[in-house]
Amino acid sequence: MGTRGRQILTDLGVNIPELVKMLNSAFADEWLAYYQYWMGAKVAVGMPKEAVVAELIQHSTDELRHANMVADRIIQLGGTPILEPKEWYEFTGCGYDAPTDPDVRALLKQNIAGEQCAISTYKKILDYTKDKDHATYDMALQIMEDEIEHEEDLEAIVEDIQIMLGK
Ligand code: FE
Ligand code: FE
Ligand code: MG
Repeated sequence: MGTRGRQILTDLGVNIPELVKMLNSAFADEWLAYYQYWMGAKVAVGMPKEAVVAELIQHSTDELRHANMVADRIIQLGGTPILEPKEWYEFTGCGYDAPTDPDVRALLKQNIAGEQCAISTYKKILDYTKDKDHATYDMALQIMEDEIEHEEDLEAIVEDIQIMLGK
């Protein structure tokens, strides 16, 4: 985005450095979510393992795609995406929950919490950019729809497990 585009955002009351900071926080979250899903799929044990692993792998791919979208938007805004992975921990809003318990039920629980946090993060970005920065708004909306679907997919498996266990 050129200077004119950024000037329009500033005139509309968007604090671009502040927005870039919010986006970098989401960017760190996406990489950590990607890794958490990716590693969860590697170590998962229990029932129904196949269904859970397939879902975790699919979600990890989505999170990496989100990281890509957010990085592109940061650059368009004249910012720099976090260059150092060690800074992910500094910027992250949702954190990283290591899959230390490989039981599929524990993994589902962790990742559901992560999705709920991600939904809140994008809600904040939507609120901040509404009627001001349409490009960031549209991107955040697209990502939030994915995160809502992720949460629902994981919840559906939790329900299947409860039925399977006769609860
Ligand atoms: Fe995501
Ligand atoms: Fe997600
Ligand atoms: Mg899914």
